[in-house]
Amino acid sequence: MKTIRVNLSDDSYNIFIDKGILKGIGDMLAKEKQPCKTLLITDKNIDRIYSHIVTESLAQHGFRVKSFTLTPGEDQKSLETAMILYEACFDHKLDRSSLIVALGGGVAGDMSGFVAATFMRGIPFIQIPTSLLAQVDSSIGGKVAVNHPRGKNMIGSFYQPLAVFIDTETLSTLPAIELVTGLVEVIKYGVIKDAELFEYIEKSLYDILQLDQKALLKIIATSCQIKADIVAEDEKEKHVRAILNYGHTIGHAIEALTHYKKYRHGEAVAIGMLYAARIAVEMGLTGSTVFERQLSLVKRLGLPLSTGLKPKDIIKTLYLDKKAVSGKLRFVLPTGIGEVIISDQVTEEILSHVLTGNFV
Ligand code: ADP
Ligand code: ZN
Repeated sequence: MKTIRVNLSDDSYNIFIDKGILKGIGDMLAKEKQPCKTLLITDKNIDRIYSHIVTESLAQHGFRVKSFTLTPGEDQKSLETAMILYEACFDHKLDRSSLIVALGGGVAGDMSGFVAATFMRGIPFIQIPTSLLAQVDSSIGGKVAVNHPRGKNMIGSFYQPLAVFIDTETLSTLPAIELVTGLVEVIKYGVIKDAELFEYIEKSLYDILQLDQKALLKIIATSCQIKADIVAEDEKEKHVRAILNYGHTIGHAIEALTHYKKYRHGEAVAIGMLYAARIAVEMGLTGSTVFERQLSLVKRLGLPLSTGLKPKDIIKTLYLDKKAVSGKLRFVLPTGIGEVIISDQVTEEILSHVLTGNFV
């Protein structure tokens, strides 16, 4: 088992990663928390496969579990769903010594975290992420949020879990496209911080896609460690945490312009990373192999390489992003594999030139 410590000013916690840890969750949790009333929040797809394993293990250690099953899908991440979950918290008489368990992908995780952060001004919660995206990204760092009709993740807070439990075997039931799009975030960690991780993905892509447990443990633990280090340095996203947005500036614009329907997050981010890499090459910040190696991986994953969106629409949307600072665009740009800088020097001319090109 790998254990990664997320060191924060008040709420440090561990991420436990291994294959098959779901059935031992009660035992591990009992070391962190007294048995208590517990609300397990999951979605229908995951409920069918994994809820009973978690519930039984928790019950064996004295946790009194009720569960609530969401309809799968991003549109469930809303204040309306939060209201329904608060009802479940009241019905189950949860109090500040109780526990919320998030079992599932990013939707179950963000939704449960938001409810845990706000019910009675905050009750303890743990994350058991089951999608690759949630395991390497959304379950770490304490961002909890729901969507508002006027913007994604616009209503939320920073709220840390008591612990995160990652069972790499849960990926065996994850739809293939979710695995591939989750891998985009892993590639991102390679580009921003870890050339060795990037090389490992290049070499071991076949093993990863075949769900070789050793390979999964390696890429997930490395990704979690990178994110944990960045978050520990910058809990509230004031400075270095911004590098996690590599590929996301243009990625978010693509998602927004296509109303979050046409592309999965990872697909949009992959295209965003390619554009960012190309901007860096155009600006002379790095050599073209930094772009080509990313392009080659994105192609091997079978992800889309173009959007058909107009460059001027993408640029307009970029200026609306909540992360544009006083009207200035900020880009995370690679200066090599494993190193990035944050730049506000990307001119509209470069942008428009790069966005007009395509990837072949
Ligand atoms: P995210 O991509 O942010 O994790 P979701 O929470 O919507 O987003 O998860 C993506 C989809 O994958 C959902 O339909 C969810 O039910 C499904 N899913 C997540 N984990 C698993 C798993 N281990 N096995 C099967 N389906 C899963
Ligand atoms: Zn992302």
